[in-house]
Amino acid sequence: MRILLVEDDALLGDGIRAGLRLADYAVDWVSDGDQAQRALLDHAYDACVLDLGLPKRDGLAVLRELRQRGSHLPVLILTARDSSSDKIAGLDSGADDYLVKPFDLAELQARLRALLRRAGGSATPTIVHGELVLDPAARKVTLGGQPVSLSAREFAVLQDFLTHRNQIRSRAQLEESLYAWGEETGSNTVEVYIHHLRKKLGPDFIRTVRGFGYQLGDAR
Ligand code: CA
Repeated sequence: MRILLVEDDALLGDGIRAGLRLADYAVDWVSDGDQAQRALLDHAYDACVLDLGLPKRDGLAVLRELRQRGSHLPVLILTARDSSSDKIAGLDSGADDYLVKPFDLAELQARLRALLRRAGGSATPTIVHGELVLDPAARKVTLGGQPVSLSAREFAVLQDFLTHRNQIRSRAQLEESLYAWGEETGSNTVEVYIHHLRKKLGPDFIRTVRGFGYQLGDAR
């Protein structure tokens, strides 16, 4: 899961990025509204954490532009003031949720999980696909009730497929969701993670769509 973090406060931004990385999100961090707009145009994100008070272009303008383009990207806004007018303007401009500073990192993570879950079409805390159950909060996977041990990256690839059910995911899309700017992407890593997932979950769990990429197999 790749997150765009837009926050101009260096200390806070650094803290949020560190916290999200610990939870195995790939995080791109920008600190003004223009950079945010460019990043949103250039990259595919799973969610955006957006401060409202920003240099160059405020968060509300970034958000409105995003929605005008028809994007359904889950957006969680951060507001410094406990002002209901800010929250209302944010929600009316297309934000999915908000947090008032100062906030608890654990709460930010929980709210992000909820946004990502709903974006994946699931209102329940666990994601179910046939006999497979993925619990994003506990970071656990079971298959037919038996725990499956996955590395952080394997878990991330699996969660990407479950969040984009019925879609073909290209290798580039999977890499985008796995790696933030500046992180090394080995040449065969996505294939390696898929190979491991097939070994652990069954050969048909992820299908190869020749010439296009990969797709979640049918639920069993
Ligand atoms: Ca700010």
